[in-house]
Amino acid sequence: MSSSNPSSLVPAARVVSFEEARHLVEQQAVGVCPGEVETLDLLAGLGRVLAEGIMADRDFPPFARATRDGYAVRAADLAQVPARLEVLGEVKAGDWPEPGRCSVGRGQAVGIMTGAPLPVGADAVVMVEYTAAAGTVVEIQRSVKPGENFVPRGAEARAGDLMLDRGRRLDHAAIAMAASAGNSRVQVFRKPRVAVLSTGDEVVEIDATPGPAQIRNSNSYSLAAQVQNAGGEAVRLAIAPDERGRLRKLIEEGLSCDLLLLTGGVSMGKYDLVVQVLGELKAEFYFTGAAIQPGRPVVFGSCSAQHKKYFFGLPGNPVSTMVTFELFARPMIEGLTGMTPQRLIFLRARLKSEIRTKTGLKRFLPAVLSGEFENAEVELARWQGSGDMAALARANCYVVISPERERIEAGEWVPVLMR
Ligand code: AMP
Ligand code: MG
Repeated sequence: MSSSNPSSLVPAARVVSFEEARHLVEQQAVGVCPGEVETLDLLAGLGRVLAEGIMADRDFPPFARATRDGYAVRAADLAQVPARLEVLGEVKAGDWPEPGRCSVGRGQAVGIMTGAPLPVGADAVVMVEYTAAAGTVVEIQRSVKPGENFVPRGAEARAGDLMLDRGRRLDHAAIAMAASAGNSRVQVFRKPRVAVLSTGDEVVEIDATPGPAQIRNSNSYSLAAQVQNAGGEAVRLAIAPDERGRLRKLIEEGLSCDLLLLTGGVSMGKYDLVVQVLGELKAEFYFTGAAIQPGRPVVFGSCSAQHKKYFFGLPGNPVSTMVTFELFARPMIEGLTGMTPQRLIFLRARLKSEIRTKTGLKRFLPAVLSGEFENAEVELARWQGSGDMAALARANCYVVISPERERIEAGEWVPVLMR
C-alpha cells in the first residue's frame, strides 16, 4: 500500500468515556472566543455575552425603600402597644421626604407606601393592617423591630460594585440589572459563525421531492436551530456527497467559519469518509468515539491549516446528531461566544417503569417527564433507536443511565437531563 493512499491517514481510533470526552472539549473551549466586540441596544443583546462588566451607577436601593404600605415609625415608640402616634403626613413612591420638613420624631409617624423612601428619624415600617387612623392620629396595635419592612440604602449593591461580569450571558435577569443601571446599549462579543455540513449520498434538500431511497436533510436544520440556541450564527453549507473531492472542498469552506459541525459519514462504513478527509487535511483528533448511546461514533478535532479551527463529526442518525450536539458541541460554542462553558444540569425524577439495558455505554434515552413539584415521574419514550426523531420530538428529556447499570427498577430516582 502506497503512503499516498488516503486510508493511511486515518487516525488510530480513540474511544473515550463520556466524562473524558466532555473534559477534552471543555479543555479546548477555554480562551477560544475571537474577542471581537460590538455595541447593541440592550434588548438586542438578549442571549449575547457581555464584553464589558456592568457596574452599579448608584446605590441599590438608592434610598431606604419601604417594602409595605403603612406607617414609618420609631420602633422604640411601639414598645408598648397599642400606641397612639401623631401623623405628620404621607410619602408615596416618587416623593422625596425632605429631612427639614418630614422627619419622624418621638411619638410621631408618617404614612408610607411601598417603594417610597423612609423619612429621616424612622427605623421601621408598621403594616397598615395593624393600624387605625383617626384624623392626625394613628393607633398602632403591633410592635415592630428596628429595620422591619424596609430595605436600607445600598443593601443590594453599592455604587461602583460590579453587577454583571464580562463573559456573562444576557438573560432576562441580567437585562433587568443592566436596565436599572442605565445601560440602554451594551458591549457584547460577536456571535461565532458555525458551519453546518451534512454528508451522505442519500441526503437531499428539504424542498426536494425525495427519490425512493433518499431522505431529506433534517440534520442541517436541527443543528442550525441548536447553534442559534447556544448563541451562535449557523451557516448551512451545501450537502456533501460521499465523495472525497467534493467533501474536502466543503470541509475547507466550513473551516473558514469559527467552528465546523459535520453530520454523517463518521461510522465504520466503506463510504464514511469524513475522518479520512480530515486526516488528509492534517487534522488533530482528540477523540473519534465516546462510550455513549446514542452517538458513539462522535468525533472531535481541530485543523490548523491557517488558523486553528475546531470541528465535530456528529453521527448522521438524527437523534445521535441532536444528542451529541448538546453534550459536546454546545460547550465549544459557549466558549466561542465568550462565556465559560456551562455544566450539564442533571435533575432527578422517579422512574415509572423498569429499564433493562446492556452495560458498557452511558445512555441518554429520550424520555417524558411528567408530574409536578416533588412528584416528578419519568418514563422512556417508545423509540426505534437513534434514527427515531419522532420519538425525540415527543420526549422532553433524557434519562441518563451509567455504563455499569443493566437493570433499573421502577420507583428508583434516576438522573434526567432536560432537552
Ligand atoms: P451515517 O452517520 O452517515 O452512517 O448516517 C446514519 C443515518 O443517518 C443514516 O440512516 C442516514 O441516512 C441518516 N442521516 C445522515 N445524514 C442525515 C441528514 N442530514 N438528515 C437526516 N438523516 C441523516
Ligand atoms: Mg452516511
